[in-house]
Amino acid sequence: MSTRRKFIASTAAGLAGLAVPSYGLAATSSPVTAVGQPLVISTWDTGLAANLGAWKVLRPGGRALDAVEAGVMVTEASQNCCVGLGGNPDRDGIVTLDACIMDEKFNCGSVAALERIKHPISVARRVMERTPHVMLVGEGAQQFAVAQGFPLEPQQLSADAAKAYKEWLKTSQYKPVINVENTGSKKPVGPVGGANNHDTIAMLAQDAQGNLSGSCTTSGMGFKMRGRLGDSPLIGSGLFVDNAVGAAAATGQGEDVIRIAGAHTVVELMRQGLAPKAACKAAIERIAKIKGAQARDIQVCFIAISAKGEHGAYALQKGFSYAVCDAKNQQQLVQSDFLLA
Ligand code: ASP
Repeated sequence: MSTRRKFIASTAAGLAGLAVPSYGLAATSSPVTAVGQPLVISTWDTGLAANLGAWKVLRPGGRALDAVEAGVMVTEASQNCCVGLGGNPDRDGIVTLDACIMDEKFNCGSVAALERIKHPISVARRVMERTPHVMLVGEGAQQFAVAQGFPLEPQQLSADAAKAYKEWLKTSQYKPVINVENTGSKKPVGPVGGANNHDTIAMLAQDAQGNLSGSCTTSGMGFKMRGRLGDSPLIGSGLFVDNAVGAAAATGQGEDVIRIAGAHTVVELMRQGLAPKAACKAAIERIAKIKGAQARDIQVCFIAISAKGEHGAYALQKGFSYAVCDAKNQQQLVQSDFLLA
């Protein structure tokens, strides 16, 4: 029996002897990928293309860390998506990017409010690997990126972002926009319009060695205050990985993910015995309870995978999907269950 299989067997035996708090939830069953079979999941329909980028690394036996970097780079490079330099600007018209990455050994790196750099996820990885720090922000993050050889891109908005910003300036209304994907029945709320209006990709992967890693990258909430940071670059909020338990990531209203240290909370709930989807649901319920009637004004979504290779997700509102890629099917889009009917 491989070390990993022994570990899973002994962990399961250990958990069987523990009193696991139920939080009023049955541990809903989650789809499982066989141990030794790589798996990658990511947020929204943009995750379909990103997962293929990750799969190129995972399929031949590559490392989950390399996969989650390569995967979200596909989305960062796309000018047609609200992530990376093609994303929506802040309310002063400047695109500022946030990203973080975490591996199977609690190594992590992050950049926030980074301007004019095409691949913030790769800068986050350099922070992790080449500095004694976890997080660099703003001008210092940009200086570090340039010193590491990342080219400074022109400061200009993509055609879609320029159009959306012009539209937004008509009212300059500072109000969170609910992230949704066009599922046919609900149009996005707010100034951006169009079919999809999400601003983040978060990705979680397990490689053939059973190791987990995660990445998260975003242009942040569209038309945010200058200097505003959301959950996405924050280890423990937008992303958390504990190789012995599982990994989780968030998208949606960053302020409300930060309030409960969202991704870390989901991983801790899995540690207590909940399956990934049930853990995501319990974290969403916690946010809904805190927000009360205001919960209807926001969207928050979590995705998670367990060390056993199960995956799941849960959202506050309708309109969230996540992309799944494994040996059986590289292009699955799963509509997430949600709390508020
Ligand atoms: N979580 C991101 C933020 O608050 C936004 C998103 O996921 O779309 O900046």
